[in-house]
Amino acid sequence: MEQRHVLLVTFPVQGHVNPSLQFAKNLIKMGIHVTFATSISARRRAADTKGLTFLAFSDGFDDGFKLGDDTNKFKETMRKNGSKALRDAIAAAAEEGRPVTCLVNTLLLPWATEVARELHIPSALLWIQPATVLCIYYHFFNGFSDEINEKSDNPGWKIEIPGAPPLSKTDLPSFLLPSSPSDARAAFKEQFDALDAEPSKPKVFVNTFDSLEAEALASIDRYELIGVGPLIPSAFSRGEDPSEKSFVADLFEKSDGCIEWLNSKPQSSVVYVAFGSLLMLPKAQTEEIAAGLLHSGRPFLWVMRGEEKEKEEEEEKLSCLEDLEKIGKIVTWCSQLEVLTHPSLGCFVTHCGWNSTLESLSCGIPVVAFPHWTDQGTNAKMLEDVWRTGARVRGGEDGIVKTEEIWRCVEEVMDGGVKSVEFRHNASKWKGLAREAAAENGTSTMKLKAFLDHGS
Ligand code: UDP
Repeated sequence: MEQRHVLLVTFPVQGHVNPSLQFAKNLIKMGIHVTFATSISARRRAADTKGLTFLAFSDGFDDGFKLGDDTNKFKETMRKNGSKALRDAIAAAAEEGRPVTCLVNTLLLPWATEVARELHIPSALLWIQPATVLCIYYHFFNGFSDEINEKSDNPGWKIEIPGAPPLSKTDLPSFLLPSSPSDARAAFKEQFDALDAEPSKPKVFVNTFDSLEAEALASIDRYELIGVGPLIPSAFSRGEDPSEKSFVADLFEKSDGCIEWLNSKPQSSVVYVAFGSLLMLPKAQTEEIAAGLLHSGRPFLWVMRGEEKEKEEEEEKLSCLEDLEKIGKIVTWCSQLEVLTHPSLGCFVTHCGWNSTLESLSCGIPVVAFPHWTDQGTNAKMLEDVWRTGARVRGGEDGIVKTEEIWRCVEEVMDGGVKSVEFRHNASKWKGLAREAAAENGTSTMKLKAFLDHGS
């Protein structure tokens, strides 16, 4: 039988690239040939992976697209150059005698699904957010939009969506709210339309696992949802490949002695603060976080990404930087999974990006959920009320979360009281279940195998 060949197309941001690379590795381990297609900037940041062929194309922003750049130019160039690169790669692979047998793309790349359909190649979506969020989007586009558009501003309003717990306005993906720019909603709509145009039941791989989101995974009859997560390096999900701990190429690694610093701290004592790879916090919010950390007095490790720190230096230094540096460490990037698995770690103050959320659960670390936009509010809701691994901050009228509130949540997670013990216990339970799902005979591994045996 000819070797199967998956063409995996990935949106060029860290939060899509990381889980896609692990998905690619899982496929390679099962004997599948994988070509990984993404933009030049994302390729440059991705570490080489044994057995993986890369295909890089220009999205018009070869030094990396940044928030504030021309989104339309980015989208159009991606679509045009990406579609051509995929068509050329598919033709070349056929000529070389290893034809592409399945195309898989992460979200917001409906043109990749269209190329697959045009060339009669089976395709699937790799959904890199939780299944619950997928359900919410799906039902928004299938009957729930009027209710959300018309009533979500009413005081005390909540909505019941199949596959999700009752949700208030701040628990919904921000792109679905009437106040959000319509182009983000339109991009998701386009992705769902591309799925719905599939001749057979669309297949969606989801970066989650059955025991974490059983209800959501089973709640859409029209699609086949396949939990294949947690898509984190197997060094952390299965205790394998200790040498391969990060997907990020060295040039993006600025860990700057984090592990040595953590080594010097007592067990479960450190508060880790990181807001992912995209978010830029306003100066006022950064000041409140700094004051909250000082008020708690606990050792902390804070990732303040390069651009933020540079901006900080240009404008004005954090008012309490010297005091902060007495009890904590500020870095511009770290190997997050190594930090989350360090014995000194006590809690994770997170923006609730889905990778960070899943990493916190897979490493058994309780959280302070500090969501901002896109799926983060839903992820925070799940962490606080469904998985129950931490406390969620509440913002003030101006949207800024104040010192006292940050301190309150950090203490609730760290103070060793009843709630703190419960969070730690639950986090440890999810860690065990995540490992079970990713094991050789776990649900995620078996489902991917079953897809490869019957569905590709
Ligand atoms: N990350 C990291 N070091 C950092 C900050 C983030 O390795 O200092 C990784 C993190 O482990 C996660 C990804 O970057 O895998 C961020 O993805 P997430 O979905 O959490 O947030 P996004 O960047 O998409 O907002």
